[in-house]
Amino acid sequence: MDTAYCTADGTPYYIANFAQLSESEIASKRRQLICVECRWPAYFKRAATSGQGACFGARPHAPTCSLGAPPSKKGPGSNEVQDILRNPMNHIRIDINYGAHDKVNGDPSDVDKANTRGGRFTGDGPRGPSPMNRRLRPLLKALIESEQFRNSNIIVELPRYTSLPANQLFVNFDAVDEGLANEFRGYWGLIFDTGMSADGSFWLNTGKYDDLSILITPEKYDDFKRKFNFQLDRELEGMHLLVLGKLRKAWSGKLIIDVDDVDRCALCDD
Ligand SMILES: [Zn+2]
Repeated sequence: MDTAYCTADGTPYYIANFAQLSESEIASKRRQLICVECRWPAYFKRAATSGQGACFGARPHAPTCSLGAPPSKKGPGSNEVQDILRNPMNHIRIDINYGAHDKVNGDPSDVDKANTRGGRFTGDGPRGPSPMNRRLRPLLKALIESEQFRNSNIIVELPRYTSLPANQLFVNFDAVDEGLANEFRGYWGLIFDTGMSADGSFWLNTGKYDDLSILITPEKYDDFKRKFNFQLDRELEGMHLLVLGKLRKAWSGKLIIDVDDVDRCALCDD
């Protein structure tokens, strides 16, 4: 969309004008953007090196918003989301090793091999009593696209870590507060901007007041960059992230989600 409303200064911005603001103005105002029609949170994305111009967006828009994607939109992603919602067992097992890069410390257990084989349910094979196996990225897409999935009681299991209904396991960044400290959840939402500390720690910043960040330690940064295949850190601005991990409260009061394993993260840019 070409226009977004900034609640910080009460101004509707045209995209070309917003993109020309100073770095510090962009940094603060991009956190306070909403859709001009439905007033749900919006984001700003800079022009990409690939040639795509700067834009505003909101994912999701309110269901009734005319600026959102038409609900009938078909594509591979949408089909995957439909699949997730139609799962007959009401049970999804997260398959984090599907298509994973080679790992020095892999976990070659039989359970994980079985998961990988079952990663794509076509409806043609035998319908055993096993849960549907799904990778993280389709789950993130389902969270973005489907209020029905976000509110559902479908059990989502990450073997050896957790098993909870979708409406408890997945917590949007906007709903995170310190009451969730030390809780293992699927935290997800929009990345507003990124930062790099002097020690090489990589921060994905979210939250309206920069009060919630996702931390990728220097040791994991190369893995993270390889897995998600980006050149410039700022390419991640405006993307959605899902990370399975624990929330903690730093001494500064800031809330931090540590990325312990890059395979427990998914990014979505469409
Ligand atoms: Zn809208």
